[in-house]
Amino acid sequence: MCNVPEMFGSMVFSDAVMQERLPKETYEALKRTTELGKHLDPDIANVVARAMKEWALEKGATHYTHWFQPLTGVTAEKHDSFISPTADGGVIMDFSGKELVRGEPDASSFPSGGLRATFEARGYTAWDPTSYAFIKGGTLCIPTAFCSYGGEALDEKTPLLRSMEALNKQAKRLLLAFGHDDVHMVRVTVGAEQEYFLIPEEMFNRRQDLIFTGRTLYGAKPPKGQELEDHYFGAIKPRIAAYMQELDEELWKLGVLAKTKHNEAAPAQHELAPIFTSVNIATDHNQITMEVMKRVAQKHGLVCLLHEKPFAGVNGSGKHNNWSISTDTGINLLEPGETPHKNAQFLVFLCAVMKAVDKHQDLLRIAVASPGNDHRLGGNEAPPAVISIFLGDELTEILDAIEKGEAYDVKEQTLMKVGVHILPRFPKDNTDRNRTSPFAFTGNKFEFRMLGSALSIAESNTVLNTAVAEAIDEFATELEGAENFNEAVHNLIVRTIKEHKRIIFNGNGYDEAWQKEAARRGLLNLPSTPDCLPYLIREENIALFEKYRIYTRKELNSRYEILLENYCKVLNIEAETMLDMASKEILPAVESYTGELCRTALAKKQLLKKLNCQVEEALAEKLSDTTANFYQKMATLRSAVADAKKIEGVQARANFYHDAVFAAMEDMRADADILEANTARSHWPYPTYSDLLFGVK
Ligand code: ADP
Ligand code: MG
Repeated sequence: MCNVPEMFGSMVFSDAVMQERLPKETYEALKRTTELGKHLDPDIANVVARAMKEWALEKGATHYTHWFQPLTGVTAEKHDSFISPTADGGVIMDFSGKELVRGEPDASSFPSGGLRATFEARGYTAWDPTSYAFIKGGTLCIPTAFCSYGGEALDEKTPLLRSMEALNKQAKRLLLAFGHDDVHMVRVTVGAEQEYFLIPEEMFNRRQDLIFTGRTLYGAKPPKGQELEDHYFGAIKPRIAAYMQELDEELWKLGVLAKTKHNEAAPAQHELAPIFTSVNIATDHNQITMEVMKRVAQKHGLVCLLHEKPFAGVNGSGKHNNWSISTDTGINLLEPGETPHKNAQFLVFLCAVMKAVDKHQDLLRIAVASPGNDHRLGGNEAPPAVISIFLGDELTEILDAIEKGEAYDVKEQTLMKVGVHILPRFPKDNTDRNRTSPFAFTGNKFEFRMLGSALSIAESNTVLNTAVAEAIDEFATELEGAENFNEAVHNLIVRTIKEHKRIIFNGNGYDEAWQKEAARRGLLNLPSTPDCLPYLIREENIALFEKYRIYTRKELNSRYEILLENYCKVLNIEAETMLDMASKEILPAVESYTGELCRTALAKKQLLKKLNCQVEEALAEKLSDTTANFYQKMATLRSAVADAKKIEGVQARANFYHDAVFAAMEDMRADADILEANTARSHWPYPTYSDLLFGVK
């Protein structure tokens, strides 16, 4: 058994390591920088760089990298060694403050959505001292923000850091109005639960679709899927258990608080949940988790699939973003209080989230938009594409009573008045039962459940932080100027409930009736990525982000383009892969099997006229007919792909990929799946769904 406390964070240049290795003044100056957002002195950077290098060398590192999160959704790194030549022809291991603080990767191949002309290939990475450096594969990784020559953010991290600051600033104002003058920082805490699939590597390698697109583009339904629900929380197979054990250990070394692991709803599907931490660290940790999940899988002869929908007809994978805000004095602002005053404060923060989510449904939807996640949202396994909040019956009834000025507790006949009554404690259990809600209050935090498994959590949190910062800003302004504070708080809460209660829905989000009800309430329903992205560049959204300095207009336009381009590229790769698999493997396989059937029938007829060859004939006929249809649909898809490429304007192109190309792919797949179901195993070129889903013994 390993010594977990000793192992935990052993590869992280953590607060404890910094305290131990940095001179006291340097440590404190650095702390001030990270906690108060103060500018970093170059002398301090030099001292930190030296200590970091010494520590990294002791751990066996030879290289360093500025580790960043470009808009590709995965992390990027370029390794430089520490070596520096000496006059006598040798080398020393060197690392300066300058190298720590700033890097200049050649960034011309990262998406920039027109922000960076190709002749200006430079991009900058800037050290983010609020995240800890760590060692991975012999390289010291320094978390950084990534921006263009002109200072525009080209990554996921910069806007996130900006949004944390916006929320911090506004929340402190509101808290001050409530009399908290001791709060220096309000921080967002996040715990991101991660779902994933594990399949045998040798089967993965035999499927081009998995290799190129991360999902199966073909695949007939297996005789057994997830209908028995016998996988969920089921006993973990030894091979998977060994994988999970190593995964935990690797994550612990990197300071990731991996806590819970279990089997998920679909066969071969699993989940890992960490203990929550500060949102920027949680974001880094989730990226690290995804990376380590893949790497460890290889060592076990497995492949970890993080795609949102690897298998049609089987649950896809998501990510649950548990979100809350708390003060440096240790108060979770979404924890219902024990005194009327604390309750009033809780309700105001709750109302801020309600208002933010209702007002910015479009932005939350966009934050989880990706071609992969489009397969899930609304697919009866993940929350629908409509955003709503689950509060649970009890809290909803309380809000109701407050709004109407009615008695909440019928027995006592007391009217609910904020700032006077203590809310009844609602048992936490009650609030966590609804699994179909996109945005659920779970006792002392909200759980945003629409994220796709492959997405970075940065964007969702950037949107949430910004939207809530705006609501809190408006609330603070109102309350700061109030003559009668309690009265003002009460009125604010009542008004917010009235205006935004349409966003609350405690029923079954998978129910079709909900879509109709949501439409009646005027809630947005944006099923696909091309549907929702135009909202990103609406004037009111640009104004919101510019007001809180999260994104500039230019940055938003670039993101809009990048996301649409990405959508087109992904669909194009999928379509081309389908066509390639069809002509090179599926058609030849089916033709060969059909040929065998025909030869058998012919032989039977020639040899002995009496022999019955109905089966061969019927099968050969079915296969031939389906193949003919399939072949025609290939032509349709091929011409749709060709047409798509000719379309000017990325929005129109994305729409076309969605409406024509994707539709043609679905059509083609339907025929392929019939072919698969009727072709002998000995002829079918790919591992089937049964093989993939039940292949790990
Ligand atoms: P469950 O969702 O199964 O009820 P928990 O409520 O314990 O489980 O937590 C789920 C996730 O929420 C975990 O990742 C946990 O660390 C995280 N979490 C718990 N409290 C907070 C909080 N205050 N802020 C952010 N995340 C939290
Ligand atoms: Mg959960």
